[in-house]
Amino acid sequence: MARLATLKPRLATVSGRLSVAPVVSWRVGKTTANQRGYNYEWQQARLVHLNDNPLCVYCEREGRVTAANTVDHKIPHRGDMVLFWDRTNWMSLCAPCHSSKKQREEAQSG
Ligand SMILES: [Zn+2]
Repeated sequence: MARLATLKPRLATVSGRLSVAPVVSWRVGKTTANQRGYNYEWQQARLVHLNDNPLCVYCEREGRVTAANTVDHKIPHRGDMVLFWDRTNWMSLCAPCHSSKKQREEAQSG
């Protein structure tokens, strides 16, 4: 992805033949913080998921009822867009559960 930055300026002379096609056709022209797929489409999709699954699944397991505000991937996608967009791999988490899960994942380091 960072490879784009190494493109030489003379590429501009190859008019109309840029092969850098967008993978997903999101229509937001602005460059947002869409690192690793967290783009406009994801923002929309996660809102839909949170709407359908408003409770934190971890808290629910413990018998607590907590409003979720984060959609996390059960299996870390690590940039894999198939996993990323696989809705069966999504789960709603509250902020505390999300951060403790992330800490565990980082402790496991893969
Ligand atoms: Zn929770």
